[in-house]
Amino acid sequence: MKVIGISSGFGDAEGFKRNGVNDHYIEAVIQAGAVPMILPVCENEAAVKHMIQLCDGVILSGGVDLHPSYYGEEVTSLCEAFDVLRDCYEWHLLDGIKQTKKPVLGICRGAQILNVYFGGTLYQDLSMKKDSYVMHRQLGSRGYGCHQITVAKNSFLVDIYHSGDLVNSYHHQAIKQLAPSFKTAALSLDGVVEAFENDAEKIYAVQFHPELMILHDAKARRLFQWFIERIDA
Ligand code: MN
Repeated sequence: MKVIGISSGFGDAEGFKRNGVNDHYIEAVIQAGAVPMILPVCENEAAVKHMIQLCDGVILSGGVDLHPSYYGEEVTSLCEAFDVLRDCYEWHLLDGIKQTKKPVLGICRGAQILNVYFGGTLYQDLSMKKDSYVMHRQLGSRGYGCHQITVAKNSFLVDIYHSGDLVNSYHHQAIKQLAPSFKTAALSLDGVVEAFENDAEKIYAVQFHPELMILHDAKARRLFQWFIERIDA
């Protein structure tokens, strides 16, 4: 079975700082027939890079905002919570992914940090994107689709999603400038990058949260299966 490392973040339980991921990621990987392995946040660069060697593929999970210094901006009042330790840890994970060429699927924050790592930038808040009008911060019906996407021809999503399909949306930041090595795979109707890829390097990313949709949406389940099949393809 394939081992899928999942990047984690800090939570708080009973006054203790805890490492973890939302259980949906675990369930999504299990349902897709692979072994999920939570990669704990830590500052030790060698340990973090070694974690990557234990994985067949990696999912970079959702979470708080990446500190804007990573894309050369001052933090503005529209930026929300960030976690410098997680930023540092995930940057080391990305170093490990780049060195080992392990396949990676970025989800939400995972997509955003992938874009910045490879030279792109972010909107610190979607209100900074002048023509954005779509609701990207879904308030109800958690785990169900919110807004439409248009899927680019020949993208990694074409066998799974069609233009007009609904995806969920739980983000207030978004890709501003896409990194030069990436190709847009899906857009929202107001032009927000909802998916991108570098197929040759097996780097894939979605701004939406397929792991939250697996209960009700066969396409979301298929996306995880597709990624795991792609590891060896
Ligand atoms: Mn969205």
